[in-house]
Amino acid sequence: MPFSLPRPLSHSSISLFQDCPQKYKFKYVDKIPEKPRHFFSFGQSVHSALEFLYAVQAPPPPTLEALLACYQERWVSAGYRDGDQEAQYFEDGKRILAAYYRKHAKDFAVPLFVEYGFTLEVEGVPVTGKVDRVDALADGRLAILDYKTGKALAASRVERDAQLTMYQLACERLLGRTVARLSFYHLPSLKEQVVERHSTELVETLTKRIVSTAERISAGRFKPTPSEAVCRWCDYKPLCPVYGGAGAGAVEQPDQELSEGIDELGELLSRAEALKKRLLATMEEKGYARAFGRRFEVVRSAARRWEFSDKKKVLELLSKAGLYERVLAPSAPKVEALMSDVTVSDSVRARLAEYGAPVTTPDLKVKPL
Ligand code: SF4
Repeated sequence: MPFSLPRPLSHSSISLFQDCPQKYKFKYVDKIPEKPRHFFSFGQSVHSALEFLYAVQAPPPPTLEALLACYQERWVSAGYRDGDQEAQYFEDGKRILAAYYRKHAKDFAVPLFVEYGFTLEVEGVPVTGKVDRVDALADGRLAILDYKTGKALAASRVERDAQLTMYQLACERLLGRTVARLSFYHLPSLKEQVVERHSTELVETLTKRIVSTAERISAGRFKPTPSEAVCRWCDYKPLCPVYGGAGAGAVEQPDQELSEGIDELGELLSRAEALKKRLLATMEEKGYARAFGRRFEVVRSAARRWEFSDKKKVLELLSKAGLYERVLAPSAPKVEALMSDVTVSDSVRARLAEYGAPVTTPDLKVKPL
């Protein structure tokens, strides 16, 4: 039976469907995007730098400086709470990459593939994915490696992890070679968990899971399966029927171009903020007041201002000293406030309106979701 799927299944979309079919529907059928998450952005940034490291045709590898420059260039800013959190993660990533480089640069070997993207059919179901690294062993067999940037994984997970089984299935089918080894490489601790290829039984279990997921999606079976652990972080809660939402029809589908532009602007602004903080810190450390790029220069300045916690006392003092008038200055916002102040006479307000004209300056306020 041909399957009707919104897109080929991947390890993450199958897991999402298993977590909650309704959530899968919101994301893949109704195409309502989830909020960006900083941990995905962080993983993507580090993976992208490692892809650069292994993209050479032959040793030696790029220098550590080149690796870190690439990391900075490919940094993904989306999803961070604020500039401080982003700067903290950025530094963590630098430390992780530098430690990884120091450990592996001496035995550097070019992999068979980095970021190996695949698409294949499993029992008629289109399946897609991307393997972080595929190495060719001396005997011609393959070693598959998946990098992890989050928390350390339970030691037993690598033995049965469905994502690794899927990678094994795809590589053996498409590359025509046997997989000898599967591993998770936990980058923050530089620890690798390695197992031999997954059993035929695990491959069969995965195949059944792929087919049954495709059947349920094709049949439109998206009944929500709420649970504390999954609903807690679900972006679709306001729409979800379990929580009184009215489903995807309740929201206007976002204009794709507008939505992408908003994300791009938000990312640029938060990236600019984080970059500014980093440059300031470096200039402070080096004692520079001014520094140059190739097309721009920056000048470090520090705005110093007083803050008066007891404004009443300050005003009393100024009044007594006859200085009150000297600190009063008319400003446009203050005059504008008078124009809508009902205690000011109509005639004065009318004359103020004659002296000025409203000017509209278009602006966008950007804040993280
Ligand atoms: S809120 Fe819970 S039940 Fe509703 S879609 Fe999200 S995960 Fe599913």
